[in-house]
Amino acid sequence: MKLKIVKGTRDLYGDDMSRFQRLEDAARDVFNLYGYEEIRTPMFEKTELFAHGVGEDTDIVGKEMFLLEDRRGRSLALRPEMTASVVRSVITNNHMQQSTHRRFYYIGPMFRYEQPQKGRFRQFYQIGAEYFGVSSPDADLEILLMLRQFFQAIDLKTVSFQLNTIGCQLPECRPAFKNRLVAYLESKQDRLCENCQRRIHTNPLRVLDCKEEQCIALTADAPKIYEHVCEECDTHFTGLRQMMEAHEVEYSLNHKLVRGLDYYSRTVFEVYSENLGAQNAAGGGGRYDGLFEVYGSPIIPALGFALGLDRLAMLISETKPQPEGVFIIGHDRQAVTSLVAKTREAGYKSLYDPFQSSMKSQFRQANKANVTKVLILGEEELKANSVSVKNMLNGQQDSVNLDDILNYIA
Ligand code: AMP
Repeated sequence: MKLKIVKGTRDLYGDDMSRFQRLEDAARDVFNLYGYEEIRTPMFEKTELFAHGVGEDTDIVGKEMFLLEDRRGRSLALRPEMTASVVRSVITNNHMQQSTHRRFYYIGPMFRYEQPQKGRFRQFYQIGAEYFGVSSPDADLEILLMLRQFFQAIDLKTVSFQLNTIGCQLPECRPAFKNRLVAYLESKQDRLCENCQRRIHTNPLRVLDCKEEQCIALTADAPKIYEHVCEECDTHFTGLRQMMEAHEVEYSLNHKLVRGLDYYSRTVFEVYSENLGAQNAAGGGGRYDGLFEVYGSPIIPALGFALGLDRLAMLISETKPQPEGVFIIGHDRQAVTSLVAKTREAGYKSLYDPFQSSMKSQFRQANKANVTKVLILGEEELKANSVSVKNMLNGQQDSVNLDDILNYIA
């Protein structure tokens, strides 16, 4: 049998793993400051959860889901995103009964059957957060401030947001805008790409974020949704923009930003950093006040975002591991392993050569181990109940009584 990894997946180790760990640590630290609790949901759910919530007409549900059948023929899906799962958890566990508002974050793998390329995988990782229960724009601002702080923590320069509102379901809001947009698009119909010619009548908003050149040009002068939303949505959007300006959150309006998923309402955004190429968002999110209702639950205002860990890992600087701990070398296996145990139990990283090769080879390994000190238990040292300690940072060498070694390396 030829062992091969599945297309579009990868093993994470070494430098990639260190980058992921750094990003995850920074996210946990920053999100904790804002009161977010970690949540882990199953990696697979009933297919209908995504079909109803994310929308059958979206790419990630319509074309890209990994589907499984259980032994009784029921359809399950590997999660293509996690908002639907977190909302499901809020409903099935009655999270909102314990508090008027809840904040959750998650870190984990998602699965989409996409064509793999640089920065695009079939199993990829997201860090995301969801904020439930607050309808005022303060919540939208909080999410944006948290993202800005996270980007600062990982040293990604000049974060900016692209912002739009896609209104709500009230007849005078998004539905009225859609009619206006359809009329505009119909006047250009024969010059749009084939996919958009179909989408005019199934999902006209998606024509706005089509990546085909002719569609980009033809929609440049399309009516702007943020100029046509209902009064309440307009007040929300204006309030958010004023607060963003007060907090010096850089953003630009993008009337073509609609996000791919059906569940969004009002605020939608994507986040960019100077370190990213022009088209490459590090993540995005928005408000989805209507999603709970889709699942037959009372309305709970909600919003959130997801960031792509694989892409962020490509952007941050290389991790240079700091020298840490001790490497213990010697011939007397018993003496070496007991000092290794003693130092580990006292809280030090402690390494040794499990094969007890020649002293020369052990020295070589110690030099490569990126430790701060090498502890040498040679014959002389054992006789004198001492340890020779070589400081790897400045080359200094000392002889220390074995009983004092923990104090010495502290
Ligand atoms: P989305 O919910 O589709 O906007 O995804 C949020 C973020 O997840 C994107 O901005 C990407 O950084 C990341 N992402 C989405 N799909 C993939 C993929 N197939 N491979 C790697 N990262 C992805």
